Amino acid sequence: MTDQTHICSVQYDFSQIFLHPQWYIELLPAIKTFVHDYHNKVHKFKDTTELELFRQERIKFITLVSENLQYIKQNFTAEQEYIFDTERKPIDTIVIHHSSLPPTMDLRYLETIHLLNLYVRDFINQESQYYGRSIFSGHVDKKMQTFFAYHYIIFTDGTYRQTLKDKYIGWHCGNWDYNCSSIAICFHDDLENKLPTQKALHTAYKIIRKYNVKNILGHREIKPSTTCPGSKFLGTDGWKQYLL
Ligand SMILES: [Zn+2]
Repeated sequence: MTDQTHICSVQYDFSQIFLHPQWYIELLPAIKTFVHDYHNKVHKFKDTTELELFRQERIKFITLVSENLQYIKQNFTAEQEYIFDTERKPIDTIVIHHSSLPPTMDLRYLETIHLLNLYVRDFINQESQYYGRSIFSGHVDKKMQTFFAYHYIIFTDGTYRQTLKDKYIGWHCGNWDYNCSSIAICFHDDLENKLPTQKALHTAYKIIRKYNVKNILGHREIKPSTTCPGSKFLGTDGWKQYLL
């Protein structure tokens, strides 16, 4: 049995923990293992059985948090709103992503990954003014916080959801200047080695036409260390061509 398994044999009372502002500090060992250090850790596994076990433990942990996401989404005070969006610029760029998850995966799972990966990172910093306070994304919809980094999420059947208002900065591409001036569109699918569905592509095309932008870029064109939105996006016959 690995150390990671011990960490995820969580002894916490999950029905209570998310009512406390400091829930993320109590869960920090698991958050570090399964989210912040995850990509470094998966490279170190030599044994495929252990790697698979670790992956399953990760899914289990993120699912546990996602099942309690509603408490975290409701726990904030309205006067904190807009603190992260003062640098929003006119929109001149669309950035395309994929969720790299199975299309059937509950969107709460994706939102939880963004919560743990992006927002918790700021709030666990002991130097930061936010340390120990209730997590606040600055992004509110229908009196609930939103933790999605993407403005739109498109499903394989061509339907979509706007998950972030245009006026909010999505923390999606690892480049603050681009984040401030872009709209992020995510295909909810694993497109690492396959094409999006025709219906999803058509929806993306229509959404993009609502904006008057000079750039349509894949995440990987801004941040070369990622392959997002997959290996078939670029090139003369890449699916990017369909969106231009
Ligand atoms: Zn991406």
